[in-house]
Amino acid sequence: MRLSRLLSKTLREDPSEAETASHRLMLRAGMLHQVAAGVYAYLPLALRSLAKIERIIREEMDAAGGQEVRMPALHPLDLWQATGRDQTAAAILFQLRDRRGRDLLLAPTHEEVVTSIVKANAASYRDLPLLVYQIQTKFRDEPRPRAGLLRGREFDMKDAYSFDADWDGLDRSYQSMVEAYSNVFRRCGLPTMAVEADSGAIGGKDSHEFIMPAESGEDLVLHCRASGYAANVERAKSIPPPAPEPDPLPLALTDTPGVITIPDLARFLGIPEAQTLKAVFYQADGQTVLVTIRGDIEVNEVKLKNHLRANDLRLAGPEEARAAGLTPGSTSPIGIEGVRTIADESIRQGANFAAGANQPDKHYVNVNYPRDFNVDEVADIARAQAGHGSPDGAGMLEEVRGVEVGHVFKLGEFYADALGASFIDADGAPRSIVMGCYGIGVTRLLAAAIEQNHDDRGIVFPAPIAPYHLHLVSLNPDQEQVREAADRLYDDLRADGLEVLYDDRQESPGVKFNDADLLGLPVRVVVSPRNLRDGVVELRARRGGEPQRVPASEAAALARAMLAEG
Ligand code: ATP
Ligand code: MG
Repeated sequence: MRLSRLLSKTLREDPSEAETASHRLMLRAGMLHQVAAGVYAYLPLALRSLAKIERIIREEMDAAGGQEVRMPALHPLDLWQATGRDQTAAAILFQLRDRRGRDLLLAPTHEEVVTSIVKANAASYRDLPLLVYQIQTKFRDEPRPRAGLLRGREFDMKDAYSFDADWDGLDRSYQSMVEAYSNVFRRCGLPTMAVEADSGAIGGKDSHEFIMPAESGEDLVLHCRASGYAANVERAKSIPPPAPEPDPLPLALTDTPGVITIPDLARFLGIPEAQTLKAVFYQADGQTVLVTIRGDIEVNEVKLKNHLRANDLRLAGPEEARAAGLTPGSTSPIGIEGVRTIADESIRQGANFAAGANQPDKHYVNVNYPRDFNVDEVADIARAQAGHGSPDGAGMLEEVRGVEVGHVFKLGEFYADALGASFIDADGAPRSIVMGCYGIGVTRLLAAAIEQNHDDRGIVFPAPIAPYHLHLVSLNPDQEQVREAADRLYDDLRADGLEVLYDDRQESPGVKFNDADLLGLPVRVVVSPRNLRDGVVELRARRGGEPQRVPASEAAALARAMLAEG
C-alpha cells in the first residue's frame, strides 16, 4: 500500500478526547474514526490487524473442533423473555420495535439464539458434544463507553458455545477452550494471564478471565509468583497478615475524642490497624446489614453481594445508620440487635481489638470475639490485596492491572432448561444439554495489544498482528534514482510475500520517521541517496536495536529474520 494513497491521515497532535494510550495512538495513526460515543469505523490499518487476529482465532477454534456459524444481531425480545435476561440484562440492552409493533433487541451476546439452534439440531447423545462459534458484532449500551475500542457500545466478539451431555464433558470442553485461548494469545504475541473470575451468586461454577497486563486496565488481578495462583480481585482469596494475639484482657470503654477513622484510632491507641475492628453498614435489597471486618482489611463487595445473594448492594448512608440505632464513625458490632450481622473470617484470629462503641468520642478496647459480641454469620468477604499471603500458602500476593480480553464460563443447564434444549441419553431418557460459553473481545484485544505495546513515539506492533510487516520509507523521493530504487524494492518485497506500507510521499525525513514510529510496523526499511551510494538499504526493528545495512537483494531475507523475532 502506498501511504500517499491511504484513506486515513496521521495526526500530529494528541486528540483531546483520548483517555488511554491505545485510544490516542489509534486515532493519531488513523486507524479509527469515531461515529458516536463508543461507536467506531475501523479504517484500513485497523481492519488489517483485526483480520489477522480473527484468522488466528479461527485457526485455533477450528483446531479445537469448533464449527463456525454466523448468527443475527437482531433478536426477538420474546426469546430473551424465555430466560429472563430481558430483565437481568436490561441495563445494557439496545431495544427497538419493528413496523408491526414487535419488540426486538440488538444482541449483546448469543446464548439464547445458539441454544435454540442446537435444540433444533441435536436430539441424541450421539449428536454431542458440539462446539459452535462465530465472530460477530455485539451491541451493549454501556453506561460508560471508554477509551476507544477498550469499551465500545458496538464491538466485535468471538463467541463460542459448547454443548455436552454431562458435566464431565463440559469440563473437557472448557479445558480445551482454555488451551485454545492460551494458543491464541501466544500466537498474537500478547502475554496474558488466565485468572479465576467471579461467577456470581450461584457459585461453584468455574469461570476464568484472560487478562492482558496493562496499567490502564480496569481489572485488578492478585497473583502469586511462587504458585501461579491468579484471581480477579472480585474473587481472590488471601491470607491477611496475622493480628497480634496477646492474652485477652477485660473489655473496657475508653475516651477517643475526635477519633473517627481506623488510622486515627490505631494512632490514638498506639496499636496496629490489624488490632482494630471496623463495622460497615450496607443496604442489600432494602435490608440493612452490619458487616464487621478487621480494620486493616477492606470489604469485598462482590463477595458480600454473592454471599447475601443480593441484586442490589450499597453502603448505607449516615441517616440509614442512625435509623438503625448506630453512630456513624463509632459503629460497633457490640450490643447490636435487630440487624442482620455478618463478619469476615479475619475476626476469628487476633485478640484485644479496638472497636466502635456506638457513642460519639468513645471506643471499646480489649474486644474479643466471640466473648464480647456475636454475629449471625462469618464468611470470607475480605478484599485480597498486595502483601497478603496466597490462599495456597505458597507466597505473597502481588497486584497486577490489566484488560479482560477473554472470558470462559461454565454455564451448566440454565439455558437448556429455560429453552427446553434436551437430548435423549444412551438409556433413552431425556436430559438437559450442559453448556459453556467462551468469549474473546476481538476489537478490545487490538486496543489492549497497543496498551501493552507502545512507547512515547507510538505503537510497537507485535509482528503477528501488525497491519503490514514493513514500513518502507524513501528519503528525497524527488530524486529519480531514489524513487526508482524504492519502487523496485516495494515490488520485490511484495513479490517475496511481505506486506509493505510504502511511504512514497514528498515529506521531510523527520515527518516520515515520526509517522513510521507512530504506526509502529515491526520493521522500517529506508532507501536514501546516501544508502544508494553505498549500494545498501537500511532495516531497523521498531522494538529497538541497531539499524542494519544490507544490499537491496538481501532485504527480504533480513526482514523475515527480524519479523521472526517478533
Ligand atoms: P466487562 O467486564 O469488561 O464489561 P464482560 O465481562 O461484560 O466485560 P463478557 O460478557 O465476558 O464481557 O464478554 C466477553 C468478552 O467481550 C470480554 O472478555 C471482552 O473482551 C469483550 N467485551 C465485553 N464488553 C465489551 C465492550 N463493551 N467493548 C469491547 N469489548 C467488550
Ligand atoms: Mg467477562
